[in-house]
Amino acid sequence: MWKKDIIYFFSPKGPQLDSNTIIVDDEITLLVDPGTSSRSYLKRILGETGNSLEEVDIVLNTHGHYDHFQGNTYFPEAEKIAFYPDSEDISEETSEDIRAIKKESVLSTGKLDFRILHTPGHSMGSCCLYLPGEVLVCGDLVLAEGSFGRVDLKGGSFDELKRSIKRLCDLDFEHLLPGHGGVGNKNSVRRALSFVERSGFQ
Ligand SMILES: [Zn+2]
Repeated sequence: MWKKDIIYFFSPKGPQLDSNTIIVDDEITLLVDPGTSSRSYLKRILGETGNSLEEVDIVLNTHGHYDHFQGNTYFPEAEKIAFYPDSEDISEETSEDIRAIKKESVLSTGKLDFRILHTPGHSMGSCCLYLPGEVLVCGDLVLAEGSFGRVDLKGGSFDELKRSIKRLCDLDFEHLLPGHGGVGNKNSVRRALSFVERSGFQ
């Protein structure tokens, strides 16, 4: 587990099929990407932040791939939000109780104000959570070592991915919290940009 103040980052052990989970233990308890984990895993990591499953107020999905949203079902009472239900990412698999974020906005958890940025590419409805000067939660857009999410699934676009990665380069943050693998930083994003700019896709 990685932690900065009230922001917790959990990376599941074993083969990296399951997504990372981020928990913000603020006045509002926010959980990003419950993954496909078991109820007991989610209960345990929430316990490490001093919360229970029932205490999660908001579940945000960075995008509509099942390895990020399947665990939503363990939070029947929480408000679920995401950009993707409004796009065509994988509409048939998305649960109906997800509220679509229609435009970029600020999500306040109490002490912290996160900006929700729409960053398509890996999928149409991918989004990032940005706490200026501190943290960027980026889903599968960029990974710590500088690789980037695949674009060959439904709704993926290399041009959009490139544009979104460029945008991340202009943001000010210390820690990059991706959807898989470990924690990165600004260099992860710079490296990803140089990869996409050199790649033959363009
Ligand atoms: Zn994905």
